[in-house]
Amino acid sequence: MPILEITGLVKSYFKGDIAISAVDDISFSVDKGEIVSIVGRSGSGKSTLLNLIGGLDTASAGQIVYDGKRISDWNRNELATHRRFHVGMIFQSFNMIFTRNALDNVVLALVFGGCPKNQRKARAKDLLTSVGLSERMYHKPDELSGGEIQRVAIARSLANEPEIILADEPTGNLDSITANEIMELLVSLNKEQGKTILLVTHDQETAEKISDRMIYLLDGKIIEDKKINRKSEDQ
Ligand code: ADP
Ligand code: MG
Repeated sequence: MPILEITGLVKSYFKGDIAISAVDDISFSVDKGEIVSIVGRSGSGKSTLLNLIGGLDTASAGQIVYDGKRISDWNRNELATHRRFHVGMIFQSFNMIFTRNALDNVVLALVFGGCPKNQRKARAKDLLTSVGLSERMYHKPDELSGGEIQRVAIARSLANEPEIILADEPTGNLDSITANEIMELLVSLNKEQGKTILLVTHDQETAEKISDRMIYLLDGKIIEDKKINRKSEDQ
């Protein structure tokens, strides 16, 4: 069953009089529980596509149907709700509040999600424990490694129990060993919690190991959409 159905999606930007389509007539669906990786060189439209799905940006044309709801018709407020409750976003640059410790960063997401005050801390601690950070909760981002910060970001993305995780180059700032650990954490969220994952990455080799499907973008268009056997399950 599809959680996401995208049809004829276009996002154009104007440079002077010339329109450039960062996303140029893209159509695909994602089933619940799939891991789909989106790869393509820099500037191919990966982030634009993810931001449209996450409701951070609005399309020029086409449709996005999320869980049966046509979110491409929604206004800013409705999209804010979509972002808060239905998608978890993770970025290459972490997007942490650097003056607050790990616990506060996760608590803040729970505040936005309307979690009752007396439950926030316990829930944030549970989330941080689930990503392996039980010992590091009171550290600020500048006292954590890149991999640890990304784990905080993942815990934060899970705060309001989204069905789908949108990860934009989540390992782009990490060394290869740490990158593998973060990829494994994403896979475990899929296997253990059934989260649907849309992963934008430069690391095609790893993506092919962990994904159910690969979508290749070039100049805002899908040039290939192929199902693959998850090799990691055979090992
Ligand atoms: P990727 O994530 O694959 O590197 P992006 O989605 O960031 O690619 O960008 C795709 C294209 O759209 C690029 O040519 C980029 O310059 C352009 N673009 C992205 N965002 C904007 C914007 N806000 N204004 C103008 N052009 C943009
Ligand atoms: Mg990008």
